[in-house]
Amino acid sequence: MEQFELMTLPYSPEALEPVISKETIAFHHGKHLAGYVNNLNGLLEGSPLAGLPLEEIVLKAEGGMLNNAGQILNHNLYFGQFSGKQGKTTPIGTLAEVIVRDFGSFEAFKEEFQKKGATLFGSGWVWLSADKDGKLVITQETNAANPIQKGLKPLLTFDVWEHAYYLDYQNRRPDHLAALWQIVDWEVIEERFTVKD
Ligand code: MN
Repeated sequence: MEQFELMTLPYSPEALEPVISKETIAFHHGKHLAGYVNNLNGLLEGSPLAGLPLEEIVLKAEGGMLNNAGQILNHNLYFGQFSGKQGKTTPIGTLAEVIVRDFGSFEAFKEEFQKKGATLFGSGWVWLSADKDGKLVITQETNAANPIQKGLKPLLTFDVWEHAYYLDYQNRRPDHLAALWQIVDWEVIEERFTVKD
């Protein structure tokens, strides 16, 4: 039995254009993420971790199982945070206030987040998370790592693996990161921030 399924995108494949093309979605979601799902399902067969929720697998697995489970968790959060509707593209609610409290302004937050994404060497992810006290932090995570491994609650992430942007932006990672703000759905990020564990 397949424990995990490829997530369904909450928008059509062309909905994020021109920031993310439907070709990139086809490869990134339809090939890369689908590959991680297939790999993890195979690795879980006969494993003592089979049947556990994805987050638990990320916290307990090692090696290839950790890498594939981490990438599924990361991509589910990534693809689930965008909207093509040009809806709430700036922070709302309590989260808007906390961003100003912890970074000075939304502009200052975006600048630091983009800088940490642009300067992450190799493959990985830049994250906005909340710590146990509700303070916001920006972290760089390499390869398939997720902030839950540090006890943080992940809120927002930009994927800086080349497969996330190379078809559309080639080597221009900073341009890709700067464009992503246009499609972030802050209602989703606010929900992640306010939901109780
Ligand atoms: Mn990716």
